[in-house]
Amino acid sequence: MFNIILFGPPGSGKGTQSDKIVDKYGLVHLATGNLLRQEIADKTPLGLEAKRFMDKGQLVPDEVVIGMIDSCLEKHAYAKGFLFDGFPRTAAQAEALDKLLSLKKTSICKVLALEVSEDELIKRLLKRGETSGRSDDTNEAIIRNRYSVYKKDTEPVANHYKAEDKLVIVKGEGSVDEIFNALSNCIEAEMDAQQVFSAE
Ligand code: ADP
Repeated sequence: MFNIILFGPPGSGKGTQSDKIVDKYGLVHLATGNLLRQEIADKTPLGLEAKRFMDKGQLVPDEVVIGMIDSCLEKHAYAKGFLFDGFPRTAAQAEALDKLLSLKKTSICKVLALEVSEDELIKRLLKRGETSGRSDDTNEAIIRNRYSVYKKDTEPVANHYKAEDKLVIVKGEGSVDEIFNALSNCIEAEMDAQQVFSAE
């Protein structure tokens, strides 16, 4: 299996780039934010619980998101690989992911981290809030809280992968296509190294 993580702060473009990556390379997209928003739309107990955290710009408890990822991995047992987007966001989630993947005799190949300045992120999220209908994108105080949670709990997760020599930093400012080209180059270099045949 070929598994990658698209890493980066809220608003760094993970969603936009993930759609293009899964399309090009035939990976299964696992985005915890999207899965949680679907639970909210379906008014499930998990969704109602998660909404309380998301509306404040806080993280949903680890056991909730880890359980969701576990059942998605089961559901796609024969996938050629996964693209994780918005997960792992804490050290505990990273450890749980390692365990779940090792049970499947696989692991993370690369972590592609999008780097974008704080000012640019806030600008992008407020702009997205004008049209996305996402309640966590409309209020600047909540956006700033999400950024500070990212700095405190999520950014250190990169070290977990850096220590394994799996972290690649990619500039997340520029055109969507420029960033996609940079990400594609990293993915193809890794596929070559692992002798995986790309979907094209
Ligand atoms: P963004 O990265 O732009 O903030 P996401 O759609 O990835 O958007 O996440 C939206 C919200 O969903 C987060 O602020 C958080 O409350 C919750 N969430 C998503 N993924 C996770 C996760 N892995 N762990 C905890 N909470 C999560």
